[in-house]
Amino acid sequence: MAQQLVDRRDQDFVIWEQINCAEILNLEKYKEFSPKASSLIINEARALAIKELLPLMAEGDTEGVRYENGTVKVPLSFHRVFDLIKEGDWNNLSVPTEMGGQGAPAFLGAAAAEYFVGANWPLFCYATMGNGTANMIQLYGTPEQKETYVKKLTSAEWGGTMLLTEPEAGSDVGALSTTAIKNPDDSYTLNGNKIFITNGEHDLAENIIHPVLARIEGDPSGTKGISLFLVPKYFVQNDGSLGNRNDIVCTGVEEKHGIHASATCSMTLGSKGNCIGYLLGQEREGMKIMFNMINGARMSTGFQAMTYASSAYLLAVNYARERIQGRDLADFADHNAPSVPIIKHPDVRRNLLWMKSYVDGIRSFFYYMTVLGTKGNISETAEDRERFGDLFSMLTPVVKDYMAVRGHEVCIQSIQLFGGAGYTKDYLVEQYARDCKITSIFEGTSGIQALDMLGRKLGMKEGTVFMNFLGEIQKTVDQASQVEQIQDLAVKVEAAANRLGEVALHLGKKAMSAEFKVAFAHSLPFLHILGDTIMAWMLLWRAFVASKKLSAQPKKKDLAFYEGQIKTAEFFLNTELSAAMGKMNAIADGCAAAIQISDKGFGGL
Ligand SMILES: Cc1cc2nc3c(=O)[nH]c(=O)nc-3n(C[C@H](O)[C@H](O)[C@H](O)COP(=O)(O)OP(=O)(O)OC[C@H]3O[C@@H](n4cnc5c(N)ncnc54)[C@H](O)[C@@H]3O)c2cc1C
Repeated sequence: MAQQLVDRRDQDFVIWEQINCAEILNLEKYKEFSPKASSLIINEARALAIKELLPLMAEGDTEGVRYENGTVKVPLSFHRVFDLIKEGDWNNLSVPTEMGGQGAPAFLGAAAAEYFVGANWPLFCYATMGNGTANMIQLYGTPEQKETYVKKLTSAEWGGTMLLTEPEAGSDVGALSTTAIKNPDDSYTLNGNKIFITNGEHDLAENIIHPVLARIEGDPSGTKGISLFLVPKYFVQNDGSLGNRNDIVCTGVEEKHGIHASATCSMTLGSKGNCIGYLLGQEREGMKIMFNMINGARMSTGFQAMTYASSAYLLAVNYARERIQGRDLADFADHNAPSVPIIKHPDVRRNLLWMKSYVDGIRSFFYYMTVLGTKGNISETAEDRERFGDLFSMLTPVVKDYMAVRGHEVCIQSIQLFGGAGYTKDYLVEQYARDCKITSIFEGTSGIQALDMLGRKLGMKEGTVFMNFLGEIQKTVDQASQVEQIQDLAVKVEAAANRLGEVALHLGKKAMSAEFKVAFAHSLPFLHILGDTIMAWMLLWRAFVASKKLSAQPKKKDLAFYEGQIKTAEFFLNTELSAAMGKMNAIADGCAAAIQISDKGFGGL
């Protein structure tokens, strides 16, 4: 039967055969999650997502959210399925047990979430966003704050948000103007306006806990002077019951390009002079604490794009098998020849393989990162924790932006594959494309991720983290070089990694020279060639695993799958990677036109 949302065979391949997540399950802490139990959990997630969440995706898009006098109503049908998610504890599968979660390893949480997010991100996000808020409280809260909020958030009884953006403070969070004044009882009175707040108000939870960035009066300007406050929608009384309404209100919701079922709220704090917040952590530590949630959200955002791409690709490949149109190119002159499914046309095959190579590459990369993150937290030695943690941190902007941009491109190509039908609302591909666009905008735009990569991540620990990363690629190259069938592919990946290293060194130096602006004009292309090289690495790694399986005479049903891995790698390395090599040369050449052109030279005046 045609797969929906996620190609289960591919997911299993990545988890068990390529990235070897079973290694994580050997840890005592995950002993309940044997590979068999994990597979059953994924089966259940898939069934719930396809049966209950997916049918509401288009409905949520059409119905959207309704703003009514300070409240926001989500699509009516969301309520029942939201409860099902909570009843099954799907909202906290990989949240640690001490925080009220199920304690599954991160890769398993991701495997289940691939289905939920691809089926209905807005709905799943209402149920899970509180986990990020809870995590910050668990790390930095007082014992009372942990007791009051954490389990209510991870159980999705209460919702969570993140309030950073203001009309004059978007990418530049440090420019915010929301103020906080300390009260005699150590609480703070907040005043300001926040915009674009996901899930800022809705009717799925009885309370919402807002982590709000604000500046205590008199504190320095910029990010150094920012503190973080917990602002509950309803005050929580000593016995845990809900008390009066706090002075934080939703003043409207945005009309958007996509994710219509997700409430994007304008929030006013202190219109009556009585918005009370409670400091989380220490004063002026706000950005450091908030980055815990931001980094998690950046991973989730890349992941969100991956699920859209995966879902859109599966719709496209299934359509290509069914849609009959045109004669086979070999029968072009024969007007009596039968029409064929469009999957027979060379250009359609190219498009499908193009999509597949990115979907496969980003899935492998995401699970690789998930395992890195886990190892960064729980490896035995401090040295290993540091090594894995640093690599994870360095590659986070690639997950965030590369996956967002390529994921969106896959959705667009999926529309193309459907032809006219793709441009209508008859198929979900056009919704996936609209919904996906946000992923390169929120949680830091493409430009901000590129700035982070070139300005901070590339030079982490004098560039040693980047060198370690290249070393990881080399390990796969060395293995693949031993297999005759894919030796030539290994050569290509090695050449790309070497060239990437040279370009990185060159660009890194330029970023610290008088020509730094020229360097930063190339920062996003650099982030993307880094992503392209990672795709090549992941696909070579897949081809290596597949070639080993093929030489061990796999089951007949697996033959096409494994052979497909090798063809996918061949395709990517001989087309997309070749283009990426050209882009690397362009970055090294360092065209300065984007900096040299005058503002008026852009025209349009
Ligand atoms: C649907 C949606 C949901 C959102 N949810 C939340 C939320 O829950 N909480 C929250 O706090 N915010 C949220 N946001 C806000 C989002 O994070 C911001 O929109 C985003 O960070 C960009 O800020 P901005 O819109 O002000 O754009 P700007 O900062 O004005 O950027 C405009 C353009 O300039 C570029 N740019 C700006 N500065 C630089 C720079 N220094 N270097 C290079 N390029 C730069 C950007 O890349 C962008 O292309 C949401 C936004 C949307 C649309």
